[in-house]
Amino acid sequence: MTASLASGKLYIDGAFTPATTAPVHEKATGEQIGEYAQATPADVDRAVAAARAAQPGWAALGAPERAAYLDRFAAHLRGRYDELIDLSMRETGGVRAKAEDEVSAGLRQLAISSVQATQSAGDILQPYKAGKLSLSRAVPLGVIGVITPWNYPLNLAMRAVAPGLAFGNTIVLKPAELTPILGGQILAEAAHHAGFPPGVFNLVTGDGPEAGHALAEHRGLDLLDFTGSREVGLAIAASAATDLRQIRLELGGSNAFVVLDDADLDLAASCALIASLEFQGQTCISASRHIVLRSVADRYAETVTQRVAALRVGDPVREDVDLGPLISATQRDRVHQTIVQPSIAKGAKVTTGGTYEGLFYRPTVLTGVTPDMPAFTEEIFGPVIPITVVDSEEEAVALVNGYPMLMNSVFSADLIRGMTVAERLQAGEVHVNDAHARHGAENQMPGFTRRQWIGVQRTPLDVPSWTR
Ligand code: NAD
Repeated sequence: MTASLASGKLYIDGAFTPATTAPVHEKATGEQIGEYAQATPADVDRAVAAARAAQPGWAALGAPERAAYLDRFAAHLRGRYDELIDLSMRETGGVRAKAEDEVSAGLRQLAISSVQATQSAGDILQPYKAGKLSLSRAVPLGVIGVITPWNYPLNLAMRAVAPGLAFGNTIVLKPAELTPILGGQILAEAAHHAGFPPGVFNLVTGDGPEAGHALAEHRGLDLLDFTGSREVGLAIAASAATDLRQIRLELGGSNAFVVLDDADLDLAASCALIASLEFQGQTCISASRHIVLRSVADRYAETVTQRVAALRVGDPVREDVDLGPLISATQRDRVHQTIVQPSIAKGAKVTTGGTYEGLFYRPTVLTGVTPDMPAFTEEIFGPVIPITVVDSEEEAVALVNGYPMLMNSVFSADLIRGMTVAERLQAGEVHVNDAHARHGAENQMPGFTRRQWIGVQRTPLDVPSWTR
C-alpha cells in the first residue's frame, strides 16, 4: 500500500484535488505501482497563491510551534518506514542499502531543521558608534518553489522542504515524474496528517516541460530551488536572468577519481565501486572519470575489472543483487548510445560489461579513455568506470580541473601528498582515500532565510546639526 490518499491527486491549499493522471511504474518489473496527477499552469497558479496566502501566518507562529509540525510530519514518515524502503526500491530501482540511505537522510534532515528552527536566528553586532545598536536577523524568504530529480526523491525534496518550512517559508513542490510517489505524494500525506495549515505545503506533480516549466517561470515565487541536470538548470538560469528572479541550483558534473602512483590499489578499487556504481552510478556525486598514474594503471584496471565483473545485476528487492535497473529507457540509451558506444568508436576498450538487457545495464569498465571522448567529458549517470592514464600528478590536476564537477577523490598512501593534490582540485567537496562518504552535508544546507541587518538609534541626540 503506497500513497493511497494522494495517489493521482494534487495537494493544494490543504486539499487533495483530482486531475488528469499518468502511470507510475516499478523500474525493475515495469509493473504499474501508482499514478500521478499532471498539474496544469492554472493548478500551479493556485498552489502559489495558496502558499502566498499562508506564508505570513506560518512565519508568525512561534518557532517551537513550527518545529512541532515538523516533528509530526517526521513521525508520520517514521511510522511508514518499512513501506518507504520498499517503495524506494521499487520506484527508483535502488537496492535496500540505497533506500535506507535515502529515507534515513530525509528523516535526519527533518530532525536537524526542527532543532535549527528553535535556535538563534541572528547576531548582535559590535555597534557602529556609541549610542547605536546593530543586529542581524534571519528572515524567511517567503514562497519557495522546489523542483527535484528522481534519484533520491525523498531526501532531495526534504533538503529544501524541511529547512524551508522550519524557517517560516511556504512550499510548492514539483517532484520528478519518474518518482512522484516517494518524492511528492508521500510528503503531501505526511503534511496532511501533521495538520499543517492549508497552503503551507503544496504538491504539484507533473512533467518537467509542463508543470516544472510553469513553476520555474512563476513570478509569484520568492525563490526557486532546483535540483537536476545542468541542461535544465542552464535554461532556468537564463530565464531567471531576464528579470533577476532568485534561484538556487544544485546540478550535475563530471566528477573525478584520481589514483596516484603510491595509492593502496585495493582500497582505491573498493572505493571506485562505491563512487561509480552505487545506485548504478545515478548519483550527482558519482565518479565519472578515473584518472590514474601510468605506473599503477594496468594493475588498477585489472583489480577494478575483476571486482566489477563479479557484481550481480537484477531486481533490487532481492537480497542477492548488487545493482538494479537504470531509471528509464531514455537514460539507458543516453548512457549506451551517447557515451559508451561513441567512446568505444574513438578507441576506448571494454574490459567488462558494455551490454544491457531491458533497463539492466551491466556495470562497465572502459580503459584507454582520452579527454576527447564523451566518457571523459560528460556526466555519465550510469554504471560505467572510464579509466584515463596520465604521466604525472601535474597532468592529473590539469585534467581534473576545467570541467564542471561537484566532488572529487584522491588516493595516495601519503596523506600529505593526497591532501596537497586534493586542495588543487576545483570542487566543492574532495575526499582523500575515500569515496563520497557522507560528511554531514545536511548540516551545511542554507536555512532558506535572508539576513536582515538592523541598526537602532539608541539616543535621540546623534543627528547632524543641519537636521535640527
Ligand atoms: P532533470 O533536469 O531532467 O529533471 C529534474 C527536475 O526538473 C524534474 O522534476 C523534472 O520534471 C524537472 N524539469 C525537467 N524539465 C524542466 C523544465 N523545462 N522546466 C522546469 N523543470 C523541468 O534531471 P533528472 O534527470 O531528474 O536528474 C538527474 C540530474 O540531476 C543529474 O544531472 C544529477 O547530477 C542532478 N542531481 C544533482 C544533485 C545535486 O544535489 N547537485 C542531486 C541529484 C541529482
